[in-house]
Amino acid sequence: MRGRTLAAVTTTGLLCLSVSTVAAGPAAAEEAAPPKQATATGFGGAVSSVDPDATEIGLDVLRRGGNAVDAAVATAAALGVTEPYSAGVGGGGFFVHYDARTGTVRTLDGRETAPASLQADGFLQDDGTPYPFDDLVNSGISVGVPGTPDTWAEALADGGTMSLADVLSGPAALAERGFVVDETFRSQTLDNAERFRDFSSTAALFLPDGDAPAVGSVFRNPDLAATYRLLAEQGAGAFYGGELGRAVVDTVTAPPVADGVTREVLTGGMTMADLLAYDALERVPTHVRHGGLDVYGMAPPSSGGTTVGEALNIFETAGGTAPELGAADREHLRLEAAALAFADRNRWVGDGDVQDVPTRRLTSEEFAATRACLISPPATLPRPVAPGALDGTGCGSGGEAVDGGYEGPSTTHLTTADAAGNVVAYTLTIEQTGGSGIVVPGRGFLLNNELTDFNAVPVVAGVPDPNLPGPGKRPRSSMAPTIVLQDGRPLLAVGSPGGATIIGTVYGILVNRLDGGQSLPEAVAAPRVSEQNSAAGAAAEPAYLDSDLGREMVARGHVFRETEEIGAAAALELLPDGRVLAVAEPVRRGGGAAGVVLPRD
Ligand code: GLU
Repeated sequence: MRGRTLAAVTTTGLLCLSVSTVAAGPAAAEEAAPPKQATATGFGGAVSSVDPDATEIGLDVLRRGGNAVDAAVATAAALGVTEPYSAGVGGGGFFVHYDARTGTVRTLDGRETAPASLQADGFLQDDGTPYPFDDLVNSGISVGVPGTPDTWAEALADGGTMSLADVLSGPAALAERGFVVDETFRSQTLDNAERFRDFSSTAALFLPDGDAPAVGSVFRNPDLAATYRLLAEQGAGAFYGGELGRAVVDTVTAPPVADGVTREVLTGGMTMADLLAYDALERVPTHVRHGGLDVYGMAPPSSGGTTVGEALNIFETAGGTAPELGAADREHLRLEAAALAFADRNRWVGDGDVQDVPTRRLTSEEFAATRACLISPPATLPRPVAPGALDGTGCGSGGEAVDGGYEGPSTTHLTTADAAGNVVAYTLTIEQTGGSGIVVPGRGFLLNNELTDFNAVPVVAGVPDPNLPGPGKRPRSSMAPTIVLQDGRPLLAVGSPGGATIIGTVYGILVNRLDGGQSLPEAVAAPRVSEQNSAAGAAAEPAYLDSDLGREMVARGHVFRETEEIGAAAALELLPDGRVLAVAEPVRRGGGAAGVVLPRD
């Protein structure tokens, strides 16, 4: 049976090779990429993403009368075309939505899920050591059951006004006609070329004629257009039990390894039953108060909401929001609070459906008080800081510090708003840039490697690890789509890619905007630092290290390691005069794209 399936998959892969080489090969630019701007202000709704085609498709949905949920799904599907190494139907994500009808924030957990066959020792070799990380990444074994198609279907059913077919029509047309390749797409392809060559379907799609598509050429993906049309016709059932799901299972269990590749590619144990069992789950959002505002985030299995929330609580309790505080004193408290919150994240957060995760405790002001009291400026807490004692009331820590594990710096984030007051913050991913490196033959999308977000072995021997693999379990994430309400109405929405640095990016933007006196565009553009409670130091961009603030933090004992670029945020703010301000990156990842339906500066 396995042999027959493999032969069928290989044949499809070869078929895909001939079709896609013609379709996706470098071509004269017939399409001009839409113009892109990092900020846009106006009425009628807004979209912010990393990509101008995707933002334009979201705006088009708003112009056609769709709401923020419709626009978010359309923008996400368009990002599956133009940012296929960061997001797509082969991955998962977290969807946070302010529902203007009910005045509440709702969240959908579309995280990829381990198949029922994956046990706690599933990433260990016979000698008890973990497989090399690269072997896990480029394999079927790290592919989680994708959650994105179900997220789209459920989000539309719960809060949209359009059908899946309606919102997918624009992205399908984009996949068919293609987009103009930019520097980022070419360099991401080249960075992945070696592993993409190992899989015939991936090389055929992304390395036509053996090279990455040239900058300025048009990249088409008719296979993905067909996938979107199938989803449009049949709904998410085409994936969870239908022919797309069959193709995913066949690919995971028998990856289309290219001729001549000698290394063993690990296969996964995903079955159709795993796909049928998948459900994007509505979760109660995390909630903290900050400076009189309500900050809502994504609950476990993401650590985004608890860690951003806890850090904000500690920061505020330690006095960080005091208006008279100088920038350096505020920054010191911000970094100390982040280290403490990360200590607790690493120790306690995983999939709350499989084990107890103390979400309420971690986001409570009482717990923050037991942590904030450890901060005593001008001293800097030595990293790594130990986690807090959950049941303690005094000032202190308990147990050993736990490392955070590794998460790749990929993913994408988008925000949308509509004229009726709905707002969406949606972060989606396939984990690494390029995911598992495996395109589902003939279907035009990459599979995720999200299960590498599990810790293969307990990070501290003898301490229960909340993030070990397990059957049906969702790996811990750092994705932090966030919506801030003021007096019950949306004020801000923000999120970013970047693995575990997402938390620092979102937390930093919130503090810069809400407490640091910066405008939202300034807060997004500001140099970034991601304090993750590591003895190796906090990741910091060169511009941060070169700034007076960065130098002052070094003088106060903070340790940094230089990181070229952190995150790619997309955000928006509802202004007091009724306009919406959409904000994307001005520079990072080549700059993002913000747009509004009716521009009014
Ligand atoms: N897998 C990561 C997470 O769930 C996201 C990867 C990224 O942002 O690059 O947090």
